[in-house]
Amino acid sequence: MLYQRSSQLFAEAEKVIPGGVNSPVRAFKAVGGTPIFVKSAKGAYLYDEDGNKFIDYINSWGPMILGHAFQPVVDAVIEKAKLGTSFGMPTELETQIAALAVSMVPNIDKIRFVNSGTEACMSAIRLARGFTKKDKFIKFAGCYHGHSDSFLIQAGSGAVTFGTPNSPGVTAGTAKDTLLAKYNDLDNVAALIEANKNEIAAIIIEPVAGNMGCIPPKKGFLEGLRQLCTDNDILLIFDEVMTGFRLARGGVQELFNIKADIVCFGKVIGGGLPVGAFASRNEIMNHLAPLGPVYQGGTLSGNPLAMAAGLAMLLALDNDRAIFKRLEEKTAYLESGFNKVLKENKVDYTINRIGSMISIHFDANPVVDFQSAAKGDNETFKKFFHGMLQEGIYIAPSSYETWFITDALTYEDLDYTIQAVDTISKKF
Ligand code: PLP
Repeated sequence: MLYQRSSQLFAEAEKVIPGGVNSPVRAFKAVGGTPIFVKSAKGAYLYDEDGNKFIDYINSWGPMILGHAFQPVVDAVIEKAKLGTSFGMPTELETQIAALAVSMVPNIDKIRFVNSGTEACMSAIRLARGFTKKDKFIKFAGCYHGHSDSFLIQAGSGAVTFGTPNSPGVTAGTAKDTLLAKYNDLDNVAALIEANKNEIAAIIIEPVAGNMGCIPPKKGFLEGLRQLCTDNDILLIFDEVMTGFRLARGGVQELFNIKADIVCFGKVIGGGLPVGAFASRNEIMNHLAPLGPVYQGGTLSGNPLAMAAGLAMLLALDNDRAIFKRLEEKTAYLESGFNKVLKENKVDYTINRIGSMISIHFDANPVVDFQSAAKGDNETFKKFFHGMLQEGIYIAPSSYETWFITDALTYEDLDYTIQAVDTISKKF
C-alpha cells in the first residue's frame, strides 16, 4: 500500500501541530512510520487520503459501535445543525437524552453532560471530594481516566506508550492526593485504605480495564472493592467511558450486578461527537451547582449537535435488544479464529476478551494488571501492526490498546482478519 499523500499531509501537520496530531496516541511513535490521514469512513471501513481501504478495529477509540456514518446519527446532526449549532441555553433535547440514559443505566437518578471522558472523570472526582469532604482518591496503575492532572499517575494507553506515565507539569501537590493501587489486587487496595484512614474520597476504576489492553476484573474483585468502599465511606466511581453502552445496555454495573456510586461516560454516549457525562443518585448529584456547592460547568456542555448524535445512538441501542449479544458473538468468533491460527503458528500470546472488547498481547503469561501487560513483546507487536496495515486492517498503533468491535463488521470481514493474522504470524 502507498501512503504518499498521508506522509505529505503529516509533514505539513508537523509544522503547525505538535507531533502532527491532536492526541498523542494517533501518532505512530510506538510502531514507527507515518500516521494514516483519513478521508472518510462508512460502516466498518476507513478510506485514507491515498485511496486505501481499511477494516477498522479502532472505531474512533470506541464510539462507533454501530459503524461509521451511522445514518440515524448523521441525519440527526444535519437536521439539528439547520436549527442552530449552539445556544448556551437549555434545550428539550438535553432532557430527552438524560431521561433515556437514566432509564438504561442502573442506580442513577441524574446525569450531567460534559464534552469529553476527561471532563466526566475529573468532575466525578471533584463531586466525590465535595460530597465526602475528603481529598485523596485511589486509582489503579494502567487505568486511564483522561488527561486531567490528578489522573496522569501511571495512566495506561497513550501515556504509557510515550513513556511518560507521570507527566511533567503535574505538581507534587496534586500527585500526593492520587493513591496508586494494583489492578485485580484487593489486598493492595485494603492496605492503601488502612494507611490513609478517613482520607479517601473515592476509588476510581475502569471496571473492565481497556487502557492496558483489555483486562477484565478477576472474579470477586469488583465485589470486594464495593465492600471496601461501603465499609470505609468511600465512593466507588466506575469509569465506563469505554465500557458504557458497549458491554451491556446498562454497562458493567448491569453486566456484573454491582452498584457504583458515580458512573462516568464518554465515547458511545456521544455517537462520535464530543460528549462525556457523569451520573449518580440524587443525594450525590444534588451537590452539584446550581443546587449544591460543587462547581462544574461548560459553554458547550449539552451542545445540540452532540446531544442529537448521542440521542440517536442511544435510541438505536435501546431499540435493538439483541445488539450486545450480536457484538459478543462476533468478537468471540474473532477470538476463536485468532486462537486457532496463533497456536498453529506457535506464537507466544495471550488474548483477553470481554463482550466486544478484545486484545492480543504477545506474551504467553496471563495479563491481569499493568505489570503483566507491560511484558508484551513490542517488537512482535510492531511487525504485527505493520503487517495488518499492509493487509488493509487498522488496529491501534500501540500494544496497550483494546480493539473495539463494531456491529457493522460482517463475518466476511472477520474471516479476512483471521486469515491476515495467520499470514502475518507465520512470518514472525
Ligand atoms: N476514561 C477512559 C476509560 C478512557 O478510555 C478515556 C479515553 O480513552 C477517557 C476516560 C478520557 O476520555 P476523553 O479522551 O474523551 O477525554
